[in-house]
Amino acid sequence: MHGPRPDLTALERYHSAQVDVAVRLNTNESPYPPPAAWVESLRRIVGEIDWNRYPDRTARRLREALALRHGVGPDNVFVANGSNEVIQTLLLSYAGAGRTVATFEPTYQLHAHIARISGATVVSGRRDDDFRLRPEVVTEVVGRHEPHVTFLCSPNNPTGTVDHEETVRAAAVGAGLVIVDEAYAEFSDWSADGMVRDGGNVVVTRTFSKTWSLAAMRLGYAVAPADVVAQLDAVVLPYHLDAFKQEAGLAALDHADDMATRVGDIVRGRERLVEGLSGLGVEMWPSGANFVLFRPLADASAVWRGLVERGVLVRDCSSWAGLAGCLRVTVGTPAENESFLDALRATLGTGE
Ligand SMILES: *Cc1c(COP(=O)(O)O)cnc(C)c1O
Repeated sequence: MHGPRPDLTALERYHSAQVDVAVRLNTNESPYPPPAAWVESLRRIVGEIDWNRYPDRTARRLREALALRHGVGPDNVFVANGSNEVIQTLLLSYAGAGRTVATFEPTYQLHAHIARISGATVVSGRRDDDFRLRPEVVTEVVGRHEPHVTFLCSPNNPTGTVDHEETVRAAAVGAGLVIVDEAYAEFSDWSADGMVRDGGNVVVTRTFSKTWSLAAMRLGYAVAPADVVAQLDAVVLPYHLDAFKQEAGLAALDHADDMATRVGDIVRGRERLVEGLSGLGVEMWPSGANFVLFRPLADASAVWRGLVERGVLVRDCSSWAGLAGCLRVTVGTPAENESFLDALRATLGTGE
């Protein structure tokens, strides 16, 4: 008889509303398109690819370019179709049936989700009420469960909280692999990439989806000890990264200055959102990312609907464990940020 694995039938689908409204601030995408010069370079790339040949299986040139950015060797970089595929490959290699994966909630739901799909058991510790993760909590969870993989996320999605070196150290004391998901690191002032060493157990994952304005491209990577990268290369499907994407990713790195400018604009937008939100008397938390988590005093789902009616989509996190009453807004363009604040003001009835 056919049928999925019994442990998968209880699995909840990963869900994020794709509602067609004017102002979409719900999935932490960049509000800016990539540089026009990069889009232009795609034409040349299409013309130069040997389309009848399989791509470079090692994506050598892309790895070399990313390695330079992080001051590591090419053997310390693994690339895949989005950081989610990087995470999946890590979990296929280091988690799986009979193994344990630790997360610190509330955090990015896909860590536990993909861990379960790999067959692993998920254990979790809790962040404090202000969503900070204390090193002692990490020490306690790692000591008690001896997880094969421990996830950290800095800045943490959906809270925006930035972890620090002591927190990563507390996780790395264990024997398991420590994955620091840094999808938003460029918006913050700290990265664990300096803690990645050959022979060590710290891995950092990054993505082109947020900072590089390339969510549609599906490109992410890990900075990791060489033995981990070799293991990932052995597990991932052969030729998983197509030739076009390898070249397009390389070309994107030629526009690092544009990326940095956009990141600066978005950080300023975040400051504006924080200022606007504090004027509305909502509770919120310091963010090192391109979004802000906040808690209106009114019913969160009603506020979410009120915003949608006014053409603004944010993420309703209010039913997620540990996030009662919370909404998450992605930083948009200056005009989108004002539209959001206006819509929220109108929804909360604090004057037009
Ligand atoms: C958006 C996000 C990602 C991105 O995944 P991609 O597959 O690279 O698009 C990864 N981790 C976190 C925490 C995110 O918020």
